Amino acid sequence: MGFRPYVWRLACEMQLNGLVCNDAAGVAILVEGSRDNIDRFTRRLPVEIPVLARVQNISWIDAVPEHTHIDFVIAENGGGELTTMIGQDASVCTACLTELFNPSARRYHYAFINCTHCGPRYTLTHKLPYDRINTSMASFPLCPACEEEYRNPGNRRFHAEATACPDCGPQMQLLDQNGFLIGCTDPIAQTLQRLKAGQIIAIKGLGGFHLACDALNQDAVERLRARKLRDEKPFAIMVANTLSIAEYVEISEAEKALLQSSERPVVLLRKKADSSGFFSALAPELAWLGVLLPYTPIHWLLFHQAAGLPTDIAWIDEKQSLMLVMTSANPCDEPLVFHNVEAIQRLSGIADAFLLHNRDIVVPCDDSIMRMGVAKIPQFIRRARGYTPLCIRLARTTPAVLALGGYLKNTICVTRGNEAYVSQHIGSLNNPASCNMLIDVTAHLLDILQVSPEIIAHDLHPDYFSTRYAQQLSDEWGVPLIGVQHHHAHFAAVVAEHHIITPMLGLALDGMGMGCDGTAWGGELLRLANGQFSRLGSLMPLPLPGADKAATEPWRMAAAVLFQMGRSEEIATRFTKQTAAKQLHLLLKRGTHCPMTSSMGRWIDAAAALLGICEVMSHEGQAAMQLESLAEQTGDVAALVDGYVLHEDGRLDLFPLLARLADEKNIYFGAALFHATLSDALAHWLRRAAEIENIYQVALTGGCFLNHVLTRQLTQLLEKSNIRVLTACQVPPNDGGLSLGQAWIAMHKLTCEV
Ligand SMILES: [Zn+2]
Ligand SMILES: [Zn+2]
Repeated sequence: MGFRPYVWRLACEMQLNGLVCNDAAGVAILVEGSRDNIDRFTRRLPVEIPVLARVQNISWIDAVPEHTHIDFVIAENGGGELTTMIGQDASVCTACLTELFNPSARRYHYAFINCTHCGPRYTLTHKLPYDRINTSMASFPLCPACEEEYRNPGNRRFHAEATACPDCGPQMQLLDQNGFLIGCTDPIAQTLQRLKAGQIIAIKGLGGFHLACDALNQDAVERLRARKLRDEKPFAIMVANTLSIAEYVEISEAEKALLQSSERPVVLLRKKADSSGFFSALAPELAWLGVLLPYTPIHWLLFHQAAGLPTDIAWIDEKQSLMLVMTSANPCDEPLVFHNVEAIQRLSGIADAFLLHNRDIVVPCDDSIMRMGVAKIPQFIRRARGYTPLCIRLARTTPAVLALGGYLKNTICVTRGNEAYVSQHIGSLNNPASCNMLIDVTAHLLDILQVSPEIIAHDLHPDYFSTRYAQQLSDEWGVPLIGVQHHHAHFAAVVAEHHIITPMLGLALDGMGMGCDGTAWGGELLRLANGQFSRLGSLMPLPLPGADKAATEPWRMAAAVLFQMGRSEEIATRFTKQTAAKQLHLLLKRGTHCPMTSSMGRWIDAAAALLGICEVMSHEGQAAMQLESLAEQTGDVAALVDGYVLHEDGRLDLFPLLARLADEKNIYFGAALFHATLSDALAHWLRRAAEIENIYQVALTGGCFLNHVLTRQLTQLLEKSNIRVLTACQVPPNDGGLSLGQAWIAMHKLTCEV
């Protein structure tokens, strides 16, 4: 990460002699010189550290002056085991951008410009040590000019393993929809021209392909949506800078900083009230829009071309009109496309052309997605590019653990010492390609960390691919397995990152996870003390009429609620579009094909369908996001009096609230009333548990806490009652964080206890 050259430059500036090298413990520096200069060096070293270097700890040791060094050198590695890591991928730095747009620089308009402060790392590295030979740059020998920079400690490309120039590095190519080369002198100019004409272009990025189109061209956006199999998922858009989108969304200083960070996540921003027309095709029915800024030289070149090729870099801070839809190129739930040949095969029929290059992506890594959470703490929705493979510090050191996660939004986690490495987002394990990616990511992460797991953690569900793979690895390696209950893992993920050791309450709200009793859980009030979990209560269970179908068809959950309330006759009259509606009450009456679930997600679906907001979902969480968006646009309202019942056995019953929503005609008010009453009910539930257990801190976890309105309202109510609230900050609260919690439980050898 440019740390050793940084030390070298600083030492030379201070006229100090000595050396800097990597050793088994990290980086060692020896300096000799006058006391004044050494003092200035020790003062400046921690404060001027390069942006990508993550320094955990600096300790200084006074040595007996020997004056054995006549200059300052960067020494070869000091030996020992490699404890250093491959870095994360970073967006183009300002120094490289300045060169990129300077017509007299030798890397003018070179799409693969990078230096020790920026560019790809994780996504092009096969194995440790992080040397060019172990990356996909191995097939591009350095030209004499690049070699000279690479060898010069004073140059910012000193040991920049991915450095290249137009003479020696990768090149771009533009191919047509059938994969044939399009003859053109400038692939960037040609790509922009095609985007402006409404075409959909597959663009190779850092960790995979994007599908791009002109965000201002409604036809193009709708065509992209149609070709991606009528998916109603929101699209993210890329703009040159925050000024270019400020007219349409609200951007706080904290959000701006997040957008501009070198990790460059997609950030969800609140739409302005009068801008809904502009967004109708991008993020339909939602109050937020995903926005990201350019992070590869190719992105920047497209914006530079659109800006009319200015020769300085002032334009990058000025308002630009180009807005591109940038959506991950993955058909349905399959993983991101990242190989050239694969792109042409899998994206044929979707992309009109392909902007490719010959620098291979070794490990796919999707864009990270974040939003500014309650209390201005950024919250992950998806953790991947820019953050993988950064570690999460644990409270203590233990033997290595491999945790294979769950089913939806899967990630894996490997621990080494007191570090937990959560993989990039792998996706839902409902297709062979995602399952293969899980196998590849596991092998790669174990390889780069150079650890052999001593225990393997998995979900309790026996049919998940991750569970079966855990069993296979356990047999192969002869290491023990530990099954971890889904919501305990959610809870443990928060406990792990916050280093909690005292007793704690946990509220885990999500779609579904298999419980210790074999039924589907998802609205769980838990307690953790002395290393043991217990279930204090749950949401009142609902039947899932049609089993799995009920998880994607909210109208079925509404029907289940109507049935439970004795209003079965309304099912057929409310849901006339659903052919199964006429017979569903029979299924509910017989109780066949109607497994029970305590899932919060399904209660939310029922509320959305009773209000008439969403009957059938095209993607997971759709009904919840629409309900949340309506509540956000309405603003806070008072909770419904007597909207819930808290039973003595610890069960929370929301039927009174749902009965009220079934008769509500105003969807905006209904959505706001639902959130207000739910928050009130959950706060009451937690307050009672806090008093009984005498525990005044709670972890809010599970995918439902991606709901900003719910999290904000509930947090305010709990804090008013002096209950401390903790949430996931370093992993998503959804199933993307499960593997961390599983690893933590495996580390503590905890067993599930109901
Ligand atoms: Zn750079
Ligand atoms: Zn070169």
